[in-house]
Amino acid sequence: MQTLDSTSMVIVGAGHCGGRAAQALRSTGWAGSIHLVGDEPHHPYERPPLSKELLTGSKTAEACALLTTDAMADLHITRHVARVTGIDAAARSIRLSDGQVLGYQSLLLATGGKVRTLTIPGGDLPEVLTLRGLGDAAALATRLAPGQRLLVVGGGFIGLEVAASARKLGCEVTVVEGAPRLMGRAVPEPVAELALALHRNQGVRVLLGASPERIERTADGVRMTLSDGSFIDADTVLTGIGIAPDLALAQSAGLAVARGVLVNAQLQTSQPGIFAAGDLVEFPSVLSGQPLRQETWHNAETQAAVAAQNMLGGDAAYASLPWFWSDQYDHQLQVMGEPALAASSATRALDDGGMLIFYLDTAHRLVGACGWGQSSRIAKELKLARTLVERRVTAAPDVLVDPATKLKALLSHAA
Ligand code: ADP
Repeated sequence: MQTLDSTSMVIVGAGHCGGRAAQALRSTGWAGSIHLVGDEPHHPYERPPLSKELLTGSKTAEACALLTTDAMADLHITRHVARVTGIDAAARSIRLSDGQVLGYQSLLLATGGKVRTLTIPGGDLPEVLTLRGLGDAAALATRLAPGQRLLVVGGGFIGLEVAASARKLGCEVTVVEGAPRLMGRAVPEPVAELALALHRNQGVRVLLGASPERIERTADGVRMTLSDGSFIDADTVLTGIGIAPDLALAQSAGLAVARGVLVNAQLQTSQPGIFAAGDLVEFPSVLSGQPLRQETWHNAETQAAVAAQNMLGGDAAYASLPWFWSDQYDHQLQVMGEPALAASSATRALDDGGMLIFYLDTAHRLVGACGWGQSSRIAKELKLARTLVERRVTAAPDVLVDPATKLKALLSHAA
């Protein structure tokens, strides 16, 4: 079947970013057709609850929906549950796995990433699960019950959030992390240390610098052997070892790619009329101009809005600073800005053992911050820190560290 309507807006990827972009096209005033194509059998939904509330049962899958069936109908969004098998950039059309061809005026790629899987022997056993979609969360939830033994591979955000949820549910939990520390991809060491102490306090066995070698079936579950010969017995293995963007489709369409699909500040790819956003892209950092890739709720949310504007002929530049959070037990972690760009840091103690680290460039202008503490006690400080970083406030390290300094008072130091 052919649907060659070259005045359509077409979005590939019906996740958070794709869903938000479809909404934004309508709210920006687009009255023509919008096609939203994705291979997950759900309407767009938000992923943060998948490792937390969905596992502990305090939220349902329906409550995670970003766009309900009614909202999709109200916005006249045409949904295709299919994969895109090819893009013809010259003809401005895409081909779907069900044989349809859709023409586009502007195309947005928001296909996110695929979970990395363990490539060791036994890594494909049915007891070895991953967590990316609603179906994955439902499958994992059925296996988390009091006394069940859960082995988590990867001490990143997914692994640690699942570990915390599983402890709440009464499981015995072991975390196996390959690196010498937790959350090495994006969290500064002192905060990772605090998180490690909390998990151990909560009864999680955390093994650092551990390298899984193979997984075998036992009489009552599975056994993972590490490279040092030690082993861990479990009922379920959950791997949280990151995601990788699937670049094949973009490459076959001739788009420039590196660690992700390369876009400029307008989220435009190297081909006219094709935009890309979310976990999939490498975009220029507003702080450094260097390419950044972000796998966060905030990135999906904010890039969707900019992409939609530009799909309709706008010239908006993406200027949002990175931001993410992770909830573990009753604690929250936040990282804002880009701590990696810092020349120096200043650590401020918060209530009840919490910590807020500010990151400064050579001119003492804030380029980032990272906070950790009990969610109920540090929310206000984290919000203020984020505003300070967003406004690129200048402040001396000793002023930031001083408990007598009210963060609010520093807002007037904006650049
Ligand atoms: P996610 O979003 O899945 O949590 P992250 O990148 O935040 O992804 O964390 C993944 C973690 O998994 C990192 O800390 C990384 O060092 C760890 N890791 C990756 N591969 C392995 C492996 N084979 N064994 C143990 N840990 C691993």
